[in-house]
Amino acid sequence: MKIIDLRSDTVTQPTPAMRSAMAEAVVGDDVYGEDPTVNRLEALGAELTGKEAALFVPTGTMANLLAIMSHCDRGDEYLCGQEAHCYRFEGGGAAVLGSVQPQPLEFLPDGTLDLNRVARLIKPDDPHFARTRLLCLENSQGGRVLPLAYLAQARELCDRQGLGFHLDGARVANAAVHLGVPLETITRQVDSTTLCLSKGLGAPAGSLLCGSREFVAKARRWRKVLGGGMRQSGILAAAGIVALTQEMPRLAVDHENARLLAEGLATIPELEVVRCATNMLFVRVSGGREGELTDWLKQRGILLAGRDALRLVTHRDVAREDLERVLREVKMFFYTMEKFV
Ligand SMILES: *Cc1c(COP(=O)(O)O)cnc(C)c1O
Repeated sequence: MKIIDLRSDTVTQPTPAMRSAMAEAVVGDDVYGEDPTVNRLEALGAELTGKEAALFVPTGTMANLLAIMSHCDRGDEYLCGQEAHCYRFEGGGAAVLGSVQPQPLEFLPDGTLDLNRVARLIKPDDPHFARTRLLCLENSQGGRVLPLAYLAQARELCDRQGLGFHLDGARVANAAVHLGVPLETITRQVDSTTLCLSKGLGAPAGSLLCGSREFVAKARRWRKVLGGGMRQSGILAAAGIVALTQEMPRLAVDHENARLLAEGLATIPELEVVRCATNMLFVRVSGGREGELTDWLKQRGILLAGRDALRLVTHRDVAREDLERVLREVKMFFYTMEKFV
């Protein structure tokens, strides 16, 4: 039985094209800047995001940490969402390793931050306070795509207030495909962006951090300090090049699959589809039976994630017929429950 893993889009297997590109990659020592495949990937990332330079790093977590440490100094702070990955899900790295404190605020229901509230949270220049230096947004945010007009307003705010502007673009490719625009249309509004190669784009590992030459030089230095300077990493970068050049348009299929799955689940009275956006959907189960449903499905080879709401993420390794099997099993769960309650 095929395992249908909907926990995240990180679970994908590298494509055959990636594996052969990896096998054939010309490599060198990237700490010396001598890996031609890494250099090619970085040039491609910079071009796609419209930035001067890019840096290949092992993870999105390191990319965000490097961004914060390169925009901010000790005693500075960054503004971000309460549920932002770079605050909530990265072990407090900015504070632990960068001596930079977060100033979180609640996301609005559309995944944006209220820019008036952001402006009010910028601290005055006074030794009582940390120096507010950076705004971090996420796109997509839990699957939700930030409107382009909103990004332009956030850019204006940062310019007016002298803040740096970083985008956690782990899934910015999903956002671009959803809007039907080149990546650069989104990333032109920010000073720096991350771009994850190992989620929907399917590479086995790696993210890019893109920004100005000066910013990336700083980040490159911190990458070495944090232990992220890899040697013949062109082996991994080769898969990243395939991800960027071949996999982006396919994300539209994931979005369509998520929508179809959401429509199917919405017909089940015991379920509430809280949100479906790009390749993610969040579902609540009546009577707080999320855990029971998850266990039931797990026994049948279907894996879901979730805390209070269940999270289902579509990706290249789940096909349309897999989703039909998911729907059948979910319906069977409620049918069986009804019979035995
Ligand atoms: C996954 C993710 C990251 C971190 O990426 P890793 O490669 O898992 O460290 C950062 N931000 C967002 C929004 C993510 O979804």
